[in-house]
Amino acid sequence: MVSLQVAAVEISNRYRSPRNPERKVRPSTDFIVLHTTEAPAKSSLNKVSERGECHFCVTEEGTVYRIVDRDREAFHAGRSMWNAREDLDKYSIGIECVGYHDKPMPLIQLYAIRDLVKELKAMYRLRDERVVTHSMVAYGAPNKWQKKKHRGRKRCGMLFAMPSVRKILELKVRMTSDPDVRAKRLTVGDPYLEKVLYGTVDTMRNAYPKKPAPSAPAPAPRPSGGILGIFRREDPPAPKPAVRAGFKQPPKSIVELKARGYKKRGAVSKKLTASQIAGGRWNSSDTYYTIRNKVIPGNIINPAKIEVGMAIWMK
Ligand SMILES: [Zn+2]
Repeated sequence: MVSLQVAAVEISNRYRSPRNPERKVRPSTDFIVLHTTEAPAKSSLNKVSERGECHFCVTEEGTVYRIVDRDREAFHAGRSMWNAREDLDKYSIGIECVGYHDKPMPLIQLYAIRDLVKELKAMYRLRDERVVTHSMVAYGAPNKWQKKKHRGRKRCGMLFAMPSVRKILELKVRMTSDPDVRAKRLTVGDPYLEKVLYGTVDTMRNAYPKKPAPSAPAPAPRPSGGILGIFRREDPPAPKPAVRAGFKQPPKSIVELKARGYKKRGAVSKKLTASQIAGGRWNSSDTYYTIRNKVIPGNIINPAKIEVGMAIWMK
């Protein structure tokens, strides 16, 4: 069943890859492979689109771009193996996330990834273990430094294996070991990476609130079709979101903010910081930031993304 518990995610065809028609239809979809682009949004989008390197690309603002049609092959995993199966491009959906494998991503972006993954998991009936990172499936050929085929060719998407990030993505199950290393098909080429993927190294632990605030993110019911807008015919109609007594959806527009009695307290500038405007309530769920028609609750805003020109609304 496809959930309609979707945050404010937009999807865009602006960077649809010109490679689409020449790509083969994939035989099956058994995995979702998460990547980090290791570059800023604009150059990431241009590159993945030009080369047809993923099916979706998610920016820091939480916008989802369709790149290659999801039933066709995108070239994202390269030399890859998982549980003896090679060439994962044939069997997986690749999601490129703008950002870096070892840096925290804004919550709004993680929520967009979460919603996209949720929808794809439902569509292809995939369990949490099938949501892997590029670094989990990539492997290297023998070379000067590694005598054997080895895991650790890339650290791409590494953060998505960390317990704190998987929790935000609502992936409850995490792999505890590498099936190909266990079966001695591969050796460990990057011991640190192995500790991150299957051990207790979690460098994102302190980057996010311990408990996601109950009021965030706003589960906004979508009129139809979810993020992807395409459900299989046999999918049952999506349930109506439960209405909890006293639960109010956060406002989604400036008009709504005004209607609910919020007042603009100022705008962030080079001389005026968010905490100078909003004081200790700068990160409260009852404080809102607006920019370019987006409304972001204070409790989910990434402090690093508070930019000049953002207006702050409070009661
Ligand atoms: Zn990658």
